[in-house]
Amino acid sequence: MPDRLIGVFPMPLAVRLVRYVYARWRRQSGPGWTKVGVLKRDRNRCGYCGAAATTVDHIAPRSRGGANSWVNTVAACYGCNQAKADRTPAEAGMRLRITPAAPTWASLAR
Ligand SMILES: [Zn+2]
Repeated sequence: MPDRLIGVFPMPLAVRLVRYVYARWRRQSGPGWTKVGVLKRDRNRCGYCGAAATTVDHIAPRSRGGANSWVNTVAACYGCNQAKADRTPAEAGMRLRITPAAPTWASLAR
């Protein structure tokens, strides 16, 4: 029981939905991986040189079992993507400027 009653109201005949909050977190913990999502997460900046990114690089190459996942992909410019090719950053002598991580819905909405 509440410790103070603030009024007496008639029982409503209908309840109107004013705002619907889609509970995405009930389906999965965060947004699923997409190339567009990676570019958005990295603000269209190349993970290697900071230039405008146009592609998505697989840190561990696809051809060698690298996954399509948030932590294995970074936005990349055409030049860096070509230079790195089918190698890991260490093999290519390239350094990542960011540590890729799974984004939140809120961070991708910006
Ligand atoms: Zn680059």
